[in-house]
Amino acid sequence: MTANLEFLKHLQKSTFYNPLLNNELDTQELEIRLDPLTNAQSVFNPRLEDKVAMFYGSSDTALMEKMAAESEPRCFLCEDRWQAMTPTYSSDLVPDGRIQVGEAVLFPNIFPAGQIHAVIRVGRKHYVPLAEFDPVAVTEAFQAAFQFAECLSKDKSVQYLTINANYLGPAGASIAHPHFQIVGGDLPCTYLESVLNRSASYHKANQSCFWSDLVNVEKTAGERYIGASGAVEWLAAFSPQGANEVVGVLPKRSHFLEMDDTDVRNLAAGIVNILHGYADMGISTFNFAVYSGPLGQRDDTIRCFVRIISRQNVYENYRTDDYFLQKLLRNELIVITPEVLARNLQLQFK
Ligand SMILES: [Zn+2]
Repeated sequence: MTANLEFLKHLQKSTFYNPLLNNELDTQELEIRLDPLTNAQSVFNPRLEDKVAMFYGSSDTALMEKMAAESEPRCFLCEDRWQAMTPTYSSDLVPDGRIQVGEAVLFPNIFPAGQIHAVIRVGRKHYVPLAEFDPVAVTEAFQAAFQFAECLSKDKSVQYLTINANYLGPAGASIAHPHFQIVGGDLPCTYLESVLNRSASYHKANQSCFWSDLVNVEKTAGERYIGASGAVEWLAAFSPQGANEVVGVLPKRSHFLEMDDTDVRNLAAGIVNILHGYADMGISTFNFAVYSGPLGQRDDTIRCFVRIISRQNVYENYRTDDYFLQKLLRNELIVITPEVLARNLQLQFK
């Protein structure tokens, strides 16, 4: 049953005399979309459809290569510098102080923003264009993350964990070298708290899980469904919270400790597919967050899920994509519609 899962579009009109149309009276039609779980709004103006370059600029490949070459000699993730330059956990928590899986290395963030805040090196290479993100390197990084989650299961005060990424300056990264970050503790982050509460309310009202229903409805409707990597289902967010937002859901897993190695590999494979699809769209940056229900508690109201967005492209003096609309009004602008995004990304899952 999926009775209460609705994709609401609120229509508005905006009227003015437009100098681009000989000062004729112009009425532009706007579509305000409401997220089916959170009601978060996003705004689409069809007149922006061919204005992608105006909003996100073009990636300056030469500039990215120059900046990477300049920062590589002092990068603490390159070569074996991390052995001398990164902190370690106590052996009670992490037997060797850090977790190594292939080229991935996990260690504490030296300036934590949470009770738990670890950094994971993703591969040896200092600079990786999105088209070259390697499934093996990303899989090893996620394997390190989930080994760490197992270590943390000994500490009952750690109930909430997220696995996150910033890639390149416009996405908030302070270093070029690909890396993920695990943040968590005894409190869910603001967004997750809201999602947990709303997912519980949905379950109470419908006797079903919002996240499983979302996958079923989108898979049946098809216009925002992208594909599957094993058991992980990927779709374009109906009302995105950032540019080109993709949501991945594990319909059978409610928290990280339920995920097995196959799930971890499928999650990594799907994320790499999305990044390669972004690369084909000319995108050079991204953020993602992987969310989990409370660790160690089977909770039928929630499922593990991931959100990926693209950010402003890298070029000199780029303009931020996060202005009053997003930061203070908490609305998002849609430039590429989720339906077009889904068609663009489906190729990566074929
Ligand atoms: Zn590096």
